Amino acid sequence: MIQKHTLLEQIRADILSQGICPDLAKQAKNLVMGDGNEDAQIVIIGEAPGKNEDEQGKPFIGASGKFLTEMLLQSGLRREDVYITNIVKYRPPKNRDPSESEKKAFWPFLLRQLEVINPTIVVTLGRHSMEYFIPEAKISDVHGDMRVVKVGDNQFNIVPLYHPAAAIYNRKLRQTLIDDFKELPKIIKKLEK
Ligand code: URA
Repeated sequence: MIQKHTLLEQIRADILSQGICPDLAKQAKNLVMGDGNEDAQIVIIGEAPGKNEDEQGKPFIGASGKFLTEMLLQSGLRREDVYITNIVKYRPPKNRDPSESEKKAFWPFLLRQLEVINPTIVVTLGRHSMEYFIPEAKISDVHGDMRVVKVGDNQFNIVPLYHPAAAIYNRKLRQTLIDDFKELPKIIKKLEK
């Protein structure tokens, strides 16, 4: 069997050789593919790299990342247990929202990552990473609820959550997000039964 790591590296190579999002690529220092356990039961998907992530080539290492790590720990999980990536894998200039065409361009590569890692659940953070899995949904209505989503031949257990950047300085959302995170191990346990 080909190693998962080799398959994930091939996805990186394909993004580069196919020249995906050349305008973003020109300005970015790094293509931020993802980080963590390639055999993880949980894959977490954010929006796009920010300044720190672009500089170091790893997702979620700035303020949002610190908060994310804290929430994982409070839920009995470590960063090393999960795999973290983004829908868009280059930093958008000035941290603007990723555009529709940028998300669309990276979507097939995100699906390939999920196929390779084959996690028990996929956690989307914020609306940008949720929208292709659960179109039309409002995060305020659906956060924390797992649903089975079919994409082509694949089926994923999607748990949409708020984005840490939106919740970090908002007392109410912050607590909601912390509480939702704590449910993740329980959701996995239920699926394993
Ligand atoms: N926010 C994201 O959505 N992704 C990162 O990698 C960092 C911050």
